[in-house]
Parts: sequence; structure tokens; C-alpha cells
Amino acid sequence: MAPQMATSLDISHRKTEAAPETAAARKNLLGLTRDELGAALALIGLPKNQIRMRTTQLWNAIYTRGQSDFAEMTTLSKELREKLAGHFVVARPEIVTEQKSVDGTRKWLLRLASDRPGLPGPEVETVYIPEEGRGTLCISSQVGCTLTCTFCHTGTQKLVRNLTAGEIVGQLMVARDALGEWPNSGRNADDRLVTNIVMMGMGEPLYNFENVRDALDIVSDGEGLSLSKRRITLSTSGVVPMIERAGAEIGSMLAISLHAVNDETRDKLVPLNKKYPMAELLEACRNYPGLSNARRITFEYVMLKGVNDSLADAKELVRLLKGIPAKINLIPFNPWPGSPYECSDWAQIEKFADVVNRAGYASPVRTPRGRDIMAACGQLKSETVKARASERFKKADAQPSA
Ligand code: SAH
Ligand code: SF4
Repeated sequence: MAPQMATSLDISHRKTEAAPETAAARKNLLGLTRDELGAALALIGLPKNQIRMRTTQLWNAIYTRGQSDFAEMTTLSKELREKLAGHFVVARPEIVTEQKSVDGTRKWLLRLASDRPGLPGPEVETVYIPEEGRGTLCISSQVGCTLTCTFCHTGTQKLVRNLTAGEIVGQLMVARDALGEWPNSGRNADDRLVTNIVMMGMGEPLYNFENVRDALDIVSDGEGLSLSKRRITLSTSGVVPMIERAGAEIGSMLAISLHAVNDETRDKLVPLNKKYPMAELLEACRNYPGLSNARRITFEYVMLKGVNDSLADAKELVRLLKGIPAKINLIPFNPWPGSPYECSDWAQIEKFADVVNRAGYASPVRTPRGRDIMAACGQLKSETVKARASERFKKADAQPSA
């Protein structure tokens, strides 16, 4: 491969065959919407009357067949394949490590493209949770998080940056690569391994709104990855003004990290509550479009010993959610090194769950998965730090070690 160079080439005025010389100058097509893909093809001089058809062919190569090497895209002419390879790449995040839990959960540490020449790219985690009859992929939306929920490991890592739409879709592509889930693997297309997606990895998805929206549009496009929005759940800590926009522009299922039944406790657990208190949050939930008994909001509630797990809390939880088509998900607290809480006792979780069950909510306790590889809810964190400008310059001067 040609050495990476820090130059970026403006190809917008080019209508000729001349190709950018370096890999770094080649635009990544992964994560472009159909319109953006069409515009990219127009920029390299494809005739207007071909754009639509070629966009569809390319879309299917990338998202239906999982191809990333243009040479393999034999539905396109040889000439076009060569031209595409001169200008573009289809690049997924790179797997740094893969871990497999005793319960079958898999976790990948992924390296994203570097933002700065000479420095390795930032890292995020993606988790695959196989269950009877379904498989859920837990996807990250940010490296780190701006929010500081006190029970969450990711909350101890400062925000490094938002993921691009390509990096969000790329997590599903990498999982399908690793699981062998593309059509050429010989698997029956109906027998899917990743059947559901939850935006519950690192970061607050509603603080990376446009990229999450575009990525989920690509993932749910009827051609290609084709995962229905009803099988995609976006979890938010409660960014009230963006919940309405999510309803209008994303239309996935919604999960709310509630975790408390009054503002005093929630202020401590989810500090964003001071900005958007519970009454406003629940009002935004009531207004979320398309709610019905078949389409409910999931309320997540992490069980913290002596903090939010009394039976009075359970009763108040049921009272608060009255009138909202809701599911309740009790999450046993997953500890991480230095975490300031303990998980509630099992007996207490069961009593709490009983109150919730009797109010008509079915099997609300989420079994922790992948704890042995730190892949369970709230345990994700990467070593990537937000380097100060002075440190960045120092490192950029030095020879990168890996
Ligand atoms: N930022 C979003 C999505 C990522 S967190 C959000 O906060 O909703 C995904 C879920 O894991 C949230 O419900 C979060 O509250 C929960 N969680 C975080 N830390 C946890 C921990 N240590 N144990 C159990 N659940 C945790
Ligand atoms: Fe961020 Fe969600 Fe963790 Fe809170 S729980 S710190 S919003 S990732």
C-alpha cells in the first residue's frame, strides 16, 4: 500500500480519469447516504443518467454483499471498478482485539481512522450478545462521553470525539465479517446472527445526532443491511430537546436511562437531570410518536444497593410511568475498577421486580452478559484519551511506537 500522506486532494473540479495518488486522499464511501454516494459518483465524472443505477449497484455491493474491494464488485464494469478504486475506499474500523465470554458474548476493540498523521486512531468497543432466537449488537456512538453518570465506566472517559456515520455502520459491518454473516458465507439470508441493534455502547447517541441518524438510515435501508427500525433501540440518558427530533427523524425504538424515581437521586446518578429534570423527560416520552402497546419505550433502571432499590422506589416507578406504553428493564449494576456503588442483593432485585411484575410489566430483569470480559452494560471504556494540544505536538514529532 502507498505510504499514508497528510495531503488531501480536492477532486471536486476533476472530470478526468486522473486518480489521487495516496490512500489518504481517497474518500471512504462507507457511511455515505444514497444521495451522498450519488454525489460522489458525479464528482468523478459519471454521466448523470447513470448515477441512480450505479449508486444502487454500489450500495448492494457494499451493504448487501459486504464487499470492500472494488475488484470484487463484478456487477460493475471493469473500467468503473478501476476508476472507483482510484478515487475511493470502502474502509471499516480495524479490529485491535476480540474477546469471547464464557456465555458466548463477543467484544471487539476497534481502532478508528486517525485524525492526526503519525498518531494511532482512537478506539471504541462493540459487543455482540447472542440469545435464543436473536442476536443483539451493542454499538458505540462516541469515543468517551461528555456526560458523567456516576455509575458508568464510560462516564469516566472524557469525550475524545464523535463517531462518523461510517464508523457507526462500520461496527455492524465488522461484526458481520467476524461472525461470517455475509451471503457468500453460505448462510441462509433469513437465518441472521445480528437481528437487533442497541445504541447502548460508549457515548450519548443524541449528542451525535446527525451521524447516528444517517447511520441508522443506512442500516435500516430496505436494500442492503435491511434491519428494521423496530429492531433498533436508541438509548439516551435524557437529552430532552433531542428526543422529539429523534422521533421525527430517526424513528427507532427508544430507551430512557431513568435509574431513579425523584430528581434528588437522579441528579446524583445522571447529572444531566439538573438540566432536564424528570417531569420534562417524562413529558417528552409521552409525546414520542407512534407509541402503542406493541411499540413501547424501554425504561432502564440500574439496581444500586441502598441508593434506588427500595420497594417504595419500585412503587413510585410504576406510578410515574402510568399512561406511558412502557417496558421496564432492571439492570443489575455491573461493577468496574474503582466504581463507587454496589449491585443490589439478588433478593432485593427479585422483590423490586415483583412489584414491577404485579403492575403488569413482564420479566423485567436483564441478565448481565459478558461480565468476565468487561462487556456488560456500562463497563465499556477505551484507553483513548483526549490529548492536550501540547502533548499532541510532542507525540506527532516523535516516532509512533505502534
Ligand atoms: N449514553 C446512553 C447509552 C449508553 S449507556 C445512555 O446513557 O442511555 C447504556 C446503558 O447502560 C444505559 O442505560 C446506562 O445507564 C447503563 N449503564 C451504564 N453504566 C452501567 C453499569 N455500570 N451497570 C449497569 N448498567 C449501566
Ligand atoms: Fe454517557 Fe450513557 Fe455512560 Fe451516562 S450512562 S456517562 S450518558 S455513556
